[in-house]
Amino acid sequence: MSLKYSNKINKIRTFALVLIFGGIIIMYLGLFFQTSPILMSLFMLLGFLAIIGSTVVYFWIGMLSSRAVHVVCPNCEKQTKMLGKVDACMFCNEPLTLDKSLEGKEFDESYNHNKS
Ligand SMILES: [Zn+2]
Repeated sequence: MSLKYSNKINKIRTFALVLIFGGIIIMYLGLFFQTSPILMSLFMLLGFLAIIGSTVVYFWIGMLSSRAVHVVCPNCEKQTKMLGKVDACMFCNEPLTLDKSLEGKEFDESYNHNKS
């Protein structure tokens, strides 16, 4: 388990970016199989699907962002978006919570790390 907590929207965005690059790399790998049209079209199809998938993920982020709560981070004082009851600041990964009862519970360890 990693101690570092990061913003959910940022995480999904990174995933979509990885998917796009993955798709491009898979399509590029397909070029090495030019002797086998079946294998090459298989790679092209997989790469294409990955890129389509990332588009879907980007749509999903857009939908999530519109529902996300805007809060001002107490640490860096920038406006950030958070999903769910607990999330981290998009800029400094400061743990944030909307639920007062969870404050200081969920992120005890990572919080201490940030303060060092
Ligand atoms: Zn912050």
